[in-house]
Amino acid sequence: MFNMEIQTQVLIVGAGPTGLVAALALTKIGVSVRIIDQNENAGTASRAIIIHAHTLEHYLQLGISQQIINAGIKVETATVITEDHTIINANIGDFGKGLSPFPFLLTLPQDDHEKLLIAELASKNIFVERNTEFLSATQNENSVTAILRKGPHTEYVETHFLCGCDGAHSAVRKALNLDFKGGSYSQIFYVADVGKPSDYTQTGFTMAISATDFTLVFPVRSSNTLRLIGIVPSEYHDKQISFNDVNESVIKNTKLKIDNVNWFSSYHVHHRVAEKFSQGNMFLLGDAAHIHSPAGGQGMNTGIGDAMNLAWKLANVLNNNATKNLLITYESERRPFANKLVATTDRAFTLMTDTTWIGNLWRKYIFPNLIKFVFSYTYFSKLFFKFISQIEINYRKSELSSGSVAKLKGGDRLPWTGNNYEPLTSLKWHVQVYGKPKLQLTPTLNECSISLYEFPWTEQHEQNGFKRNSAYLIRPDGYISVIDENGKGEPIKEMLIDILSLNMGQPA
Ligand SMILES: Cc1cc2nc3c(=O)[nH]c(=O)nc-3n(C[C@H](O)[C@H](O)[C@H](O)COP(=O)(O)OP(=O)(O)OC[C@H]3O[C@@H](n4cnc5c(N)ncnc54)[C@H](O)[C@@H]3O)c2cc1C
Repeated sequence: MFNMEIQTQVLIVGAGPTGLVAALALTKIGVSVRIIDQNENAGTASRAIIIHAHTLEHYLQLGISQQIINAGIKVETATVITEDHTIINANIGDFGKGLSPFPFLLTLPQDDHEKLLIAELASKNIFVERNTEFLSATQNENSVTAILRKGPHTEYVETHFLCGCDGAHSAVRKALNLDFKGGSYSQIFYVADVGKPSDYTQTGFTMAISATDFTLVFPVRSSNTLRLIGIVPSEYHDKQISFNDVNESVIKNTKLKIDNVNWFSSYHVHHRVAEKFSQGNMFLLGDAAHIHSPAGGQGMNTGIGDAMNLAWKLANVLNNNATKNLLITYESERRPFANKLVATTDRAFTLMTDTTWIGNLWRKYIFPNLIKFVFSYTYFSKLFFKFISQIEINYRKSELSSGSVAKLKGGDRLPWTGNNYEPLTSLKWHVQVYGKPKLQLTPTLNECSISLYEFPWTEQHEQNGFKRNSAYLIRPDGYISVIDENGKGEPIKEMLIDILSLNMGQPA
């Protein structure tokens, strides 16, 4: 199917979190990659700091979750304060208990996060090629020729697939002539990393709300730093903004007296989604494909989710285990989620920054009391965890999904039950059975060269929506593809043959 003049199977443009995770996942599955970045050095700005549970689950698959957790700070408490009093001080250290091996929010500045991913890649002998800029590309049915600028030199790279992970201003998206539809907000956000005042005792996340604005405070880095996020007052919009311009609002909202500002940045927020996530053999991932307000800290996590969704599909196609039709599901699974995310974060952002009486009422009374309500009941705090952590993302409408049983449908993320994530570290298709596999299942799976993992049936499986003795075909990214209720394997075999066109007898 593919010719031999290819220099690398996949060329990744951009070494932000999305590109780095794509490189790690592809490398783990045995695909040859090159990863380039136009910048001379890795990023030094802290930018995205929240790592959600679903990203940590993907990191478990890549074997780096513990390293990342050790480097970050687990958020233990969520406090909401208004000008007059503390509305709630909730313990959120394990608010997703039972739902994920990582039932918490982790803060880790993006630059530290990227350094760990780069080091992990280097340990696999993959090094980011710096000062290397993607200029343009041409493609035919089987390959892409990318034109790169490397200092004074131009390089032509032949690759099977090209992943555009090159951020909001993506040159890959421009080369594909794809629209980036959406708009921009008039508000300007600020982000500051500041020294923690000695009298500051909170260990977790604080949201300080007033009728007019808000300040978010996160613990970052072990070296006593706080991350402040808020909106720049409109009177400063036309000038070069510094921390002094927002200090008054910080003091009013949080009562914090900041002496030491380590990093300050302000930025416009946009909400845009690319009209397509792929064209031929070229793909858009991360900020190159979608950008939105930072409400909920979803941006970087979504880019990492894109990378995990696409990597195994590229690998299956490159290994001749699937036809190129499989790649269509990257866009059909990820673009609807990006659209939904942009709409949700847009609503949240618009309400939180609304300066009319509705916004004031929302900020001062409705929102704080809603948060108080959510964290006062385990049921609602778990619902909130499911929503914010991205573990609720599902691909139920995907061509790769079929079958249902009890609460589960094909396309759901595999619910975590304590020990059933170990097989996910292989990044391979496999089948899980909770209870006793039917006699017919093993020969059918042997025909497809698919491994079977059995787990003794427990009450926990029932609570998670599994049915005893049914068989579940699990995708390499940890999603359920087929639920075979009667457990004999026929629907699984059909999916592997019809949709994936798997070559029988070859390992997937
Ligand atoms: C100030 C700030 C604060 C933020 N805070 C948050 C937050 O709290 N939570 C959150 O989730 N998100 C936040 N974000 C957004 C988050 O940083 C992005 O969602 C995330 O970085 C996206 O990762 P990415 O890898 O897709 O793109 P990027 O991180 O933008 O990486 C793209 C890479 O591509 C490289 N590149 C670009 N063009 C080319 C080219 N032509 N050739 C070669 N290389 C190229 C760039 O040098 C860069 O290294 C923030 C962003 C900013 C700017």
